[in-house]
Amino acid sequence: MLAYSPEVAELLDLSEEDCRSDLFAQVFSGNALIDGMKPYAMCYGGHQFGNWAGQLGDGRAINLGDVTNSKGERWTLQLKGAGETPYSRTADGLAVLRSSVREFLCSEAMFHLGVPTTRALSLCSTGDQVWRDMLYDGNPEYEHGAVVCRVAPSFLRFGNFEIFSKRGDIKTLKTLLDFTITTYFPHLLEEEINTDTYLKWFEEVCERTKDMVVHWRRVGFVHGVMNTDNMSILGLTIDYGPYGWLEDYHPDWTPNTTDAEFHRYAFGQQASIAHWNLMKLAQAIAPLFQGVQRLQSVLDDYAVNYKSAWQDMMCAKLGLTSFDESLVESLLSKLEIMDTDMTIFFRKLADIQASDTAEHCIQTISPAFYDESWQTQAPSVWQDWFNAYLQHLKSNSVTHRKLVMNQTNPKFVLRNYLSQLAIDKANTGDLTMLHELFDVLKKPYDEQPDKEEVFAAKRPDWAKHKVGCSMLSCSS
Ligand code: AMP
Ligand code: MG
Repeated sequence: MLAYSPEVAELLDLSEEDCRSDLFAQVFSGNALIDGMKPYAMCYGGHQFGNWAGQLGDGRAINLGDVTNSKGERWTLQLKGAGETPYSRTADGLAVLRSSVREFLCSEAMFHLGVPTTRALSLCSTGDQVWRDMLYDGNPEYEHGAVVCRVAPSFLRFGNFEIFSKRGDIKTLKTLLDFTITTYFPHLLEEEINTDTYLKWFEEVCERTKDMVVHWRRVGFVHGVMNTDNMSILGLTIDYGPYGWLEDYHPDWTPNTTDAEFHRYAFGQQASIAHWNLMKLAQAIAPLFQGVQRLQSVLDDYAVNYKSAWQDMMCAKLGLTSFDESLVESLLSKLEIMDTDMTIFFRKLADIQASDTAEHCIQTISPAFYDESWQTQAPSVWQDWFNAYLQHLKSNSVTHRKLVMNQTNPKFVLRNYLSQLAIDKANTGDLTMLHELFDVLKKPYDEQPDKEEVFAAKRPDWAKHKVGCSMLSCSS
């Protein structure tokens, strides 16, 4: 057992002693079962990169079962990387330490950032050597094997519904949907389940998916592989693979080298891709409806609701009460013109006072600029924008502005190069950075001055084009 999350352990009524026991390591590395566990893998299909890929399924995820805790909450435990399942196809069902550290750290970091996500209970090494061609370039190597135990109310994906629909098995599709609503959406139940219930359910899935993507936009998260088999029916961020965090703000950025040509899943595409995925879910459940009109109108609402939620989120990031389209559009284009660190920029913005001058504002946010010659460029790029922003602050500030902004704009995110440093050390058996990073990311909105220099710093130059920091693949 390399690491565990005490917060997730608590959700499962597990004590620290439980987590440090040998049995814990045995169970959560996939070597032992305890009474009541009935492992199973799920069957699902999916649209990958825009095309129907047929049956996929849990190729290396194994559900151990559900736990109902003392508060009556129901949690599913799932091992990722514990070996072959009936859906492994030609692959090995295993996971490597590199990607397991990434999944473990990011699940918990996202939770503490307030982003809906699956959780991670534990990270165990297996002792296996796993053969991986990290960049699919003909240079495979052995890597350490590892298993993460993920925890969520359910791991059902859009693809679980698509597979039965594509097969024309409408009876099982209906059974699955009725089970999903009864178990995970009981507040939607009335006397009987009918198409009105299905429609309300679809509305709620759209709503939750929208909220999740708005959070991703808020914190600078790029999922990397938004295939419909990686979309949670509960609107949780799921399947941490080649994800990444924006450093310099570029909406066209994706860390996923498999997507290098089309940037389908780039940061700025995520809202419209979520919409497309919801359309695929609507098509999957359409056989349960007479006509698609009502589903279509819920889908149309998604676009409107997303826009309004995104605007509210941007207002909170800026500390303003009302949305000004030209101010925000101009801000986003300026962030792109000069390579500007998104996280540092928004965090520093809270330090600006309405009485400041534009020159002073530029000084305040200058730690966010990547270009060393910012002093010559910044005034022409930023002066007008700051003058406009200062005007807004005078008439249009939210109450307790600094507080609101600092609860919206994190100081600490899981910077790509930081997780890579933690991985490099973990690969040599040194877990100190992994544990320290894990702890810092529990309080992403706090100042933590003693952690700032190492964990809130701009990406160093060496990390700009380094594998693992800016380039990742689905190989994990
Ligand atoms: P992903 O792109 O990681 O979401 O994976 C797509 C599909 O490939 C899913 O069905 C996974 O279960 C499967 N898969 C990925 N890696 C492995 C592996 N090492 N062994 C078996 N199946 C895998
Ligand atoms: Mg997946």
